[in-house]
Amino acid sequence: MDLNYSQDESAFRDEVRGWIKQNLPQDLREKIANYDELGREDLLRWHKILAKRGWVAPAWPKEFGGTDWNVVQRYIFEEECGFAATPPLVAFSLRMCAPVLLRFGTDAQKQKFLPRIYKGEDFWCQGYSEPGSGSDLASLKTKAVKQDGHYVVTGQKIWTTLAHYADWIFCLVRTDGSKEKRQDGISFLLIDMKTPGVTVRPIRLLDGSYEVNEVWFEDVEVPLENRIGEENSGWTCAKFLLGHERTNIAGVGASKRELLRLKRIAAQERKDGRPLIEDPAFAAKIAEVEIELMALEITNLRVLAAEAERRAPGPEASLLKIKGSEIQQALAELMMQAVGPYALPLHRKGPAAAGPAYAGPLSAAYLNMRKTSIYSGSNEIQRNIIAQAILGL
Ligand SMILES: Cc1cc2nc3c(=O)[nH]c(=O)nc-3n(C[C@H](O)[C@H](O)[C@H](O)COP(=O)(O)OP(=O)(O)OC[C@H]3O[C@@H](n4cnc5c(N)ncnc54)[C@H](O)[C@@H]3O)c2cc1C
Repeated sequence: MDLNYSQDESAFRDEVRGWIKQNLPQDLREKIANYDELGREDLLRWHKILAKRGWVAPAWPKEFGGTDWNVVQRYIFEEECGFAATPPLVAFSLRMCAPVLLRFGTDAQKQKFLPRIYKGEDFWCQGYSEPGSGSDLASLKTKAVKQDGHYVVTGQKIWTTLAHYADWIFCLVRTDGSKEKRQDGISFLLIDMKTPGVTVRPIRLLDGSYEVNEVWFEDVEVPLENRIGEENSGWTCAKFLLGHERTNIAGVGASKRELLRLKRIAAQERKDGRPLIEDPAFAAKIAEVEIELMALEITNLRVLAAEAERRAPGPEASLLKIKGSEIQQALAELMMQAVGPYALPLHRKGPAAAGPAYAGPLSAAYLNMRKTSIYSGSNEIQRNIIAQAILGL
């Protein structure tokens, strides 16, 4: 197997790298580099720059704006974006709701929602989890009752990322509580966040940041045409979407950037009068995480290649979720270890009050990274999927 990039692929990488260098606004680059919180406009600004270039939704069909890139090109593009510290694209619209619309939506639904998603005109969030229904998602209770030509939705979602920025939420709701198999009574609805009866309440994360919310629905009227797929077949959409969510979670490019940051910090910190990066024990820890990252990169390409053939990622995407999140957490932890006490104060913005400037945001970033092994299906649940679906245990 030849794992080197071809000449064309290297040329493509150069083109992407050069374009990002010229088009990524400096203030956005700095916000990412400093682990700052990104606002709605920060996220949509980069989305719109990419949309103008025609690069915002590479995996979509060409007629809706896809680029026709092959798997390796898509991977190179994502890696370059992560490495250059571009703001993340809003996955809830581009990589979750859109694939579901493309696969299960009617023509009218595709025409209504996809162009607006592409242009960054609507901000979306994901309404799956509920109190008591996270890992056990099929137990969800938010109810949608058909009444006078629309659904009336009542219930509560939780951990809804960026719902405070969102115009729309895609939701799993219970449309039939009498089914023997709980999965059979669920539907997939698109709900306008401005509908009367929708309330968003903030939840603060461990590091003090505001990313997630509770979303409450009190007798919210939703048109029937906002249901994707057949009534009670929402679980099929849900499973299809979760596969897409996980394929993009490896975060290889961003981890390569953080690995460089770790190496820079370790070169400046000192142990026994020498740079920490020359300490054999610490150098071994860096090498270990770097090797894991190289292995993840190859696995990511294999999963993407399978996706290109089958059109839907399989259970091996769970490997990406586990390894990607473990590597992100390991890098954050090693930076804390490298800096020591100066990294400990929780300090969200700017340089540290004492110690080197780079110590400032490390503690907040470390605490924030704890989320990665929980969201998008916890790592324990991903291990169950691997045990059952891959290893046949
Ligand atoms: C930062 C963040 C952002 C999120 N964003 C969103 C979002 O935008 N939209 C959305 O819908 N949800 C979102 N979530 C919710 C996320 O998907 C759930 O938190 C996750 O699925 C776990 O569910 P839970 O919190 O109810 O924990 P539980 O399911 O109660 O699990 C608690 C613990 O038990 C373990 N566990 C549970 N069942 C098993 C089992 N069968 N075998 C082994 N271990 C098990 C879990 O791994 C976990 O460690 C977000 C979560 C976080 C932390």
